[in-house]
Amino acid sequence: MNKTPFALYNTLSRSIEPFEPFEDGKVGLYACGFTVYDFTHLGHLRKYAMDDVLVRVLRHSGYTVTFVQNVTDVGHLASDADTGEDKLEKGAKKYGKTVWDIAAEFEQYFWKSMDAMGNLRPDVSCKATEHIKQQLEMVLELEKKGYAYVIADDGVYFDTAKIDDYGKLANLKLEELQEGARLEINTGKRNPTDFALWKFERPGENRAMVWESPWAERSFPGWHIECSAMAVDYLGEQFDIHTGGIDHIPVHHTNEIAQAESATGKKPFVKYWVHHNFLRVEGEKMSKSLGNFFTIDDVIEKGFDPAALRLLFMTSHYRSELNFTWDALSGMQKRYDSLVKKTKELLDLLGKKSDEINREEIRSLAYSEPVKTYSEEFFAHLHHDLGTPEAVTVLWKVLKDTALTADEMLSFLVLFEEILGVEVISVARAQLDDLVALPAEVQQLLDDRKNARQSNDWATADRLRDELFEVGYIVEDLSNGAQALKKR
Ligand code: AMP
Ligand code: ZN
Repeated sequence: MNKTPFALYNTLSRSIEPFEPFEDGKVGLYACGFTVYDFTHLGHLRKYAMDDVLVRVLRHSGYTVTFVQNVTDVGHLASDADTGEDKLEKGAKKYGKTVWDIAAEFEQYFWKSMDAMGNLRPDVSCKATEHIKQQLEMVLELEKKGYAYVIADDGVYFDTAKIDDYGKLANLKLEELQEGARLEINTGKRNPTDFALWKFERPGENRAMVWESPWAERSFPGWHIECSAMAVDYLGEQFDIHTGGIDHIPVHHTNEIAQAESATGKKPFVKYWVHHNFLRVEGEKMSKSLGNFFTIDDVIEKGFDPAALRLLFMTSHYRSELNFTWDALSGMQKRYDSLVKKTKELLDLLGKKSDEINREEIRSLAYSEPVKTYSEEFFAHLHHDLGTPEAVTVLWKVLKDTALTADEMLSFLVLFEEILGVEVISVARAQLDDLVALPAEVQQLLDDRKNARQSNDWATADRLRDELFEVGYIVEDLSNGAQALKKR
């Protein structure tokens, strides 16, 4: 199949650029990870679902992708400007546990949520606390090259006036960034935009996570250094894509660029900067600190499928804000249910049992006419800065095209599922398998209902539908007959 060239919006240039990695056919991708001090919420999941789609699309386009994602388990201060409490210490106090327990428990919850969302695991998951040496080395290199200075009883700071392109990512001049930073308390910094590379424990602080460094016996890394140090460690001094939320543009990523390019002497540190817009709740950013967040468990407890949530995420572009409402999810759940129902019809028409679905064989149909036209359109949207909303509309078109056969439609679904990660076929298959093994009394009720319908006895048919509901089954009328589905 013809591959459309891949293009991606780059925050550095504020434009959609043709994608050309440093090395032909290979992509190094670093995604800013999760700070493990509280529950993973739907805002995070939206961001990681879109990272996941980016990786899937790149791999499908033939690139070998090395996908690295960190776990922030130390040093992330409540404010971006190196003031306020360490988030991990804050979480430990909130839940009355040690920082190590907090980190372990919320990391576990993060992966559980990621798995439920259908996000593929990164190739490398790296923890800040397990890469202290690499971070320290980068700070020492910066000190050696004259970019760092020490503020007594505070920390080692990066001197932003030493470089002439500080703030290039945020597209702001130093003075403008300084204006924002000035609002924060700063003691002893040479410039308001200077940031902590390494922090010292304050007298009487008694932190749980501290390491010895050349400057202080009890000290710990600043937040920004972990991403630069680990990215360089796993992907080299220059790599292709770095992702994060839009909140990271003015401070975290701006500082990552400053410290990495100054330490390695290589520019650019990253070729394409990808930034995800926020998931909001009633106009506010869904965030751990605002406490207005919902988790994947809330979604499941309310009876929704994570796959329906994922489909909802796919219908908005990653650079646009998405306002989360339960009504919107409810609407998407209905669309998802009808998608599963349609898929069951297709599988039924083809008479395919679970072990008879040969995905590769079915998928190959998607690359030849008449499905090819749709597949090309689908990829053209995705290859243009991940146009997932438009890609989803192609699926609705395919399912409405009466000229397509059941296996042709299914072939597109296989592709859709594999690239957008929205599980449909296995769900439909599992429901059908469930149907095959109906308890005898349920099957009897279903047969009675069928007979009642055939003799136009609608009252009896309705009563039997209610009876089935009472014993835990919902009747679904597919094109080739009625089926009973276990209630969720
Ligand atoms: P954190 O754990 O706060 O460092 O966040 C992990 C990632 O999720 C970062 O890239 C954030 O920018 C992103 N993020 C946090 N809140 C939201 C939200 N409401 N919507 C989308 N992305 C978010
Ligand atoms: Zn980061």
